[in-house]
Amino acid sequence: MKISIIGVGTVGSAVATAVKNTGLVHEIVLFDRDGVRARAAAEDLGHAAAFGFDVKISAVSNYRGIRGSDIVIISAGANQKPGQTRTDLLQNNAEVVRDIVPRVMANVDPKHVILILVTNPLDVMVMLAQSLSKLPPSRVIGTGTMLDTARLRTILSRGLDVSPQSIQSYVLGEHGDSSVIDWSGVTVGGLQLDDFCHQAKIPMTDATRETIEYRVRNAAYEIIRGRGATWDGIGAAVSDLLRCIINDEHRILTVSVVGGTGAHTVAASLPRVIGSDGVIMTLNPKMSSAESAGLRRSCKIIQKNFSKI
Ligand code: NAD
Repeated sequence: MKISIIGVGTVGSAVATAVKNTGLVHEIVLFDRDGVRARAAAEDLGHAAAFGFDVKISAVSNYRGIRGSDIVIISAGANQKPGQTRTDLLQNNAEVVRDIVPRVMANVDPKHVILILVTNPLDVMVMLAQSLSKLPPSRVIGTGTMLDTARLRTILSRGLDVSPQSIQSYVLGEHGDSSVIDWSGVTVGGLQLDDFCHQAKIPMTDATRETIEYRVRNAAYEIIRGRGATWDGIGAAVSDLLRCIINDEHRILTVSVVGGTGAHTVAASLPRVIGSDGVIMTLNPKMSSAESAGLRRSCKIIQKNFSKI
């Protein structure tokens, strides 16, 4: 299994580290328009690999080096600076994706390759990459709200004193400020959230839910304020998605892929079954009317932003 990472900044490096540590790939190729940065990352990661699984890590100076890749991860482009939203990156990163995708496609097997998008604003970049690559939507996958979902499960886990592994909950829609929590679908150990809270004697008021929503949506802003960027969470999310694809696990992850037709075409996150061919099936979760309205609103925001590029 050969994977390539395009854009080896903070996030690309974290992705490479997390992927290397899975032991599931035999070769990782790094490309960045800043060749010095890519070569330095390959050196450092190569040294780290000497302590773990055998994996060949190299930097390449042109796209021919990615030939034979099964999966290409795009993590290039500007990141949010403190105070910036993901949408502020729209025009800059659309140019980055327009630069990268045709070069990638000229050097991979279109019948086989899977593209994973990480660059923000994520959903719009998925739409752009899918239209440029002409690949089936099921093989152009954005990490979507995987990270937001992990943040929700972590926050719930702390409040409920239960492992995140025992909490099923999804953040849907935009990977951005309009994301929607599917409260109607939250289960803890198979119990509806309210039933669990009743049994555990934990209050779950509307105010508590609003606080949780605020913390999920603002997690990235908080991390960027304190750390300058986010990288560990997204590195883990990409390697989890990769594991699901490589092992054909058919796990359900909230990734973003293009769906719908005509004016309704949009990439947004819904729970989807993932396997070796990419997205196998999309689920329509049970939602309240307010949650459904929130999801429609979120999709409209993504479509509007796509129309600007
Ligand atoms: P960074 O500035 O540290 O690195 C970006 C890298 O992209 C740089 O090394 C730069 O040289 C390279 N690059 C830019 N244009 C390029 C091009 N045309 N071809 C090849 N390489 C190019 O930024 P970062 O912190 O690594 O963030 C990268 C992206 O990931 C940002 O858009 C950020 O918002 C996004 N991100 C997404 C998530 C998510 O959940 N999807 C999470 C965190 C960050």
